[in-house]
Amino acid sequence: PAREPILSVNNIEVVYDDVILVLRGVSLDVPEGEVVTLLGPNGAGKTTTLKAISGLLRTENGEVTRGEVRFMGENIANMAPEQIVRKGIFQVMEGRRIVEDMTVVENLRLGAYTRKDGGAAVKRDLEMVLDYFPRLRERTGLAGYLSGGEQQMLAIGRAMMARPKLILLDEPSMGLAPLLVKEVFGIIRKLNKELGMTTLLVEQNAKMALGAASFGYIMESGKIVMDGEQQDLLDNEDVKEFYLGGG
Ligand code: ATP
Repeated sequence: PAREPILSVNNIEVVYDDVILVLRGVSLDVPEGEVVTLLGPNGAGKTTTLKAISGLLRTENGEVTRGEVRFMGENIANMAPEQIVRKGIFQVMEGRRIVEDMTVVENLRLGAYTRKDGGAAVKRDLEMVLDYFPRLRERTGLAGYLSGGEQQMLAIGRAMMARPKLILLDEPSMGLAPLLVKEVFGIIRKLNKELGMTTLLVEQNAKMALGAASFGYIMESGKIVMDGEQQDLLDNEDVKEFYLGGG
């Protein structure tokens, strides 16, 4: 059989405020070196699934009440988010959340704050990230002046600076013009191909997401309702009708 996936979410239930059941038994696998996408409509529970993995659920009074989040063989469900970051999982939140009154480079350096390897390695990675995002290299002012697409790129670049083993991307296409969506997804593909960046990608833009991912899960009302290889999902009639805009 294949190697154990780096991340394996097993039948998790998630509850907010002790009573609101939002995930009703969600399971998914992310093999090392792959881009896996989690698709589904608004409110399906995609963001909640990412937060259950990154531990950020705890900051919203949410809890994994059943099941396991196995990362590199260890159950990390309900661990503190700082601890999970140190294990190598980095979440890029929806809405980007860069620091607007810092420069691009300062924001990128922030991403490296958990690293123990020294300044030289961080500097090398800074150059590498700026090579992947040439638009960012040109922007020397404060990050608050960047366009939406550039802020999204900065958020992804900042995550890369942490050298994560797994990156969780929440709707990178949100609020971006079509051309920028293409550019951002092109970079996600490139990061995966060239650096082997393992990514769990939450998206409402199924077409773009399935262009970058090798495997996909579809979630509705707190459950996975379908999964499959990229091409099988792209060819599936229901997926075409409900998620790919009829072709
Ligand atoms: P979106 O694309 O809108 O982010 P989603 O699929 O990511 O949708 P979630 O944000 O995970 O969905 O939300 C799933 C459900 O959980 C929704 O019904 C939402 O109202 C509820 N929910 C989310 N966050 C909380 C919270 N902090 N407290 C209570 N309920 C919440």
